[in-house]
Amino acid sequence: MIQKFIENGYEIVEFHEKADIYVINTCTVTNISDRKSRQMLRRAKEMNPNSTIVAVGCYVQVAKEEVEKMDEIDLCLGTNEKKDIVQCLEKYLQNKEKSEIDDVFQTKEYSDFGSVTYTEKVRAVIKVQDGCDRFCSYCLIPYARGRVRSRNPENVVSEIKSIAQKGIKEVVITGIHVASYGKDFKKHYQLIDLLEEINQIEGIERIRLRLN
Ligand code: SF4
Repeated sequence: MIQKFIENGYEIVEFHEKADIYVINTCTVTNISDRKSRQMLRRAKEMNPNSTIVAVGCYVQVAKEEVEKMDEIDLCLGTNEKKDIVQCLEKYLQNKEKSEIDDVFQTKEYSDFGSVTYTEKVRAVIKVQDGCDRFCSYCLIPYARGRVRSRNPENVVSEIKSIAQKGIKEVVITGIHVASYGKDFKKHYQLIDLLEEINQIEGIERIRLRLN
């Protein structure tokens, strides 16, 4: 999301600095996360009462009615709307139009951000998968993120080739349940197939796996 804002000409500042727009990427993995998400939303409004407060992500996705009751929040966006955050925000700023929150269970395709979400000097984090089909009894992730969706391998490989040419040597492959990568494809293609393709890319010296 930071990258999307930068691409659209916004200046990013640290959270403790006064800003015109605050985007809080909420978490709902425990009750404490819910509480912390609410605290951050309130704190943002206190820092600048005239700012626009955007609540995004998992807590909004699973508790939309609860979050919408908070006076501090101007715009609520779910997990699927992250990739369109700038357009959703600008629609709101221009004519107070609020985007609908998608039902993640109806989402069958990976929501492709189209570019690397985070890069360091020699390392890039590449998200390749979203959602989980396991429904462990203690975990809200399937309700917040929906079913397994995997990013098209051609897009992953092409993006990594492009960043390798810019000097990135290490890629961190991440997802919600990254071991399920490919489960939703019609063809037989698994995480190991993707890793083998990445391993062939010139300039990439290390591949790490990380769960979100
Ligand atoms: S496998 Fe992990 S992400 Fe999926 S439901 Fe279980 S704990 Fe949650």
